[in-house]
Amino acid sequence: MLAGHFGIAGMVKAWRPALPMGALLVATQLPDVLFLPLVLAGAEGMEAAEPGLSGYGSMWIHAPFTHALVSNVVLAVLVGVLVHLFLRDRWGRDAGAVLGAVVFSHWVLDLVVHRPDIAILPGGAGGLPSIGLGLWEIPLVAAALEGALVVVGAALYTWRALRDTPSRRRAWGYSAGITLLLVGSLVFDLTS
Ligand SMILES: [Zn+2]
Repeated sequence: MLAGHFGIAGMVKAWRPALPMGALLVATQLPDVLFLPLVLAGAEGMEAAEPGLSGYGSMWIHAPFTHALVSNVVLAVLVGVLVHLFLRDRWGRDAGAVLGAVVFSHWVLDLVVHRPDIAILPGGAGGLPSIGLGLWEIPLVAAALEGALVVVGAALYTWRALRDTPSRRRAWGYSAGITLLLVGSLVFDLTS
């Protein structure tokens, strides 16, 4: 899931326009940004959830470090504290709390769609059961949820841009760019 996370960024931008959209986009994807180098290093990875299964939502994700519950609590707090310490004056008094919550939103959305492949403790320590609500097992419903996040995210972003940007042409330009990113990532999700 790329598009659903990006949809959250659009919603938060409409709610807290002082936060840069670039920072929100990265924050919503942070665990996946960290996932990529670990895949390359062989510490994490993906495989078909069942032999022969392919297409949207067909993957079992091995990400016991970047997607463990405790890793994501630590990551969200870390981002929140750093933003609060260094960017509060530019982004607003509660920017740390908002950015921390946006980082954690990735884990919550992943919990909804992933099969039970999400560790509680980093590395699956302690032998605790892995969790995941498994909406990807009903791909149509998962895709509809992701599509709804994209539509609402793009619509709220556009509403805010048209309200706050002095130049109408610029507002439509920003909105078209973000809508393209959101819809493009949805197409990528559904076809990869
Ligand atoms: Zn993820």
